[in-house]
Amino acid sequence: MKILVTGGSGTIGSNIKDVVINDDKQWLFPSSKQLDLLNSESVDKYFDENRPDFVIHLAANVGGLFKNLKHKVEMFRENIIMNENILHYSNKYNVQDGIFCCSTCIYPYNPPSYPMTEDMIMEGVPHPSNDSYGYSKRFLYFQCINYNKQYNRKYICISPCNIYGKYDNYNLENSHVIAGLIHRFYIASKTSDKMLEIKTGLNSQRQFINAIDLSLIIIRMVYNFSDITFDNIILAGDDVYIIDVVEIISKCFNDVKYKIIDVESGQVKKTCSNKLLKDTFPDIKLLNINDGIIDTVEWFLKNYPNVRI
Ligand code: NDP
Repeated sequence: MKILVTGGSGTIGSNIKDVVINDDKQWLFPSSKQLDLLNSESVDKYFDENRPDFVIHLAANVGGLFKNLKHKVEMFRENIIMNENILHYSNKYNVQDGIFCCSTCIYPYNPPSYPMTEDMIMEGVPHPSNDSYGYSKRFLYFQCINYNKQYNRKYICISPCNIYGKYDNYNLENSHVIAGLIHRFYIASKTSDKMLEIKTGLNSQRQFINAIDLSLIIIRMVYNFSDITFDNIILAGDDVYIIDVVEIISKCFNDVKYKIIDVESGQVKKTCSNKLLKDTFPDIKLLNINDGIIDTVEWFLKNYPNVRI
C-alpha cells in the first residue's frame, strides 16, 4: 500500500515519519516544493506519477493566535484551495480511503454545552480570533461528507486540539502557545536579567495533545481503517490552564523569572470531548502535560538552533 502524507515536513508529518521509517508500507512525505497543494497542476502531476492508495492530508496554513488574527484572508483562501485540490485529485485518481485533518478550532465558541462532541460542529460559529482557519476546516469536513455520499469514498476527518512536541514550529511570531513559550523562556535564560513577561488570560484553558501521541493514533487509524465507522473524531487531551503550562515550562528553565499579565486572549476555553477517542482506542494513554513538556524542552535544547524557528 502506498500512503501519501501531505504536510509531511510539518510537526505531525515529521513525527509520523520517525515511526514508520521501517514500515512495510510505502510512505510518501513530499514537501510543498515537491507537491504544491496551492497549484492544481502540481497536484494532478504528483498523483499521476505516484498513484497513492491512501491519503493522510495534514498540510495547511497553520499558526497561533497572532497569525490567525493578522492573516485571515490567507488562512481562509490557502486552506480552502489546498483542501479542495487534495480532495479533488484523491477522488480523480480513485483514492478510496483517507484521513483529513481538521481541528477543534472548527467547533463553535459558544456551544450549547460542554464538552463539545463531534456532532456539534455546526451549532454556532467559530471564535472570531480564528474563524477564517476554522471555517476553512469546517468546509473540509463538509466536503469529505459530500465525497463519501456522492462517490462512496471513505474520507474520515480528525479534529486535534492544540498540538505540541518535537518538530513543532518554534517561530516567535507564528508558533502555537507551548512552542512559543519554550522559545521565549530559552531566549530569556540567555539574558542577564532572566526576566519574562507573559500576556495571557488568567482563566484561559486549552486541551493539548503531544505530537507523538497524535502520530501514533493516526498510524493506528490507517492500520485499522476498515473498523472505523465515524466520519470525524476529536483527538484531545484534558483541559489545562495556560498559566499552569507556563509554570511547567518555567521549571525547565529554573533561573528564569516570569510575570503574567492578564489579557483577553481568544476563547477562554473550548473543551471538546475525548470520549469517542477513548471508546475507539481504550488502551491509549496520552502523555500527561507535565511529562510531555519536559520531553519537548529536552528535545528543543538538544536540537537548538536546528529547530523550526
Ligand atoms: P505544520 O505547520 O507543522 O506544517 C504545515 C505543513 O503544511 C508543512 O509540512 C508544509 O510543508 C505544508 N504546507 C504548507 N503549505 C503547503 C502547500 N502549499 N503545499 C503543500 N504543503 C504545504 O503543521 P502541523 O503538523 O502542526 O499541523 C498538521 C495538521 O494539523 C494541519 O492540518 C493543522 O491544521 C492541524 N492542526 C494543527 C494544530 C496545531 O496545534 N499545530 C491543532 C489542530 C489541528 P513545507 O514545510 O514543505 O512548506
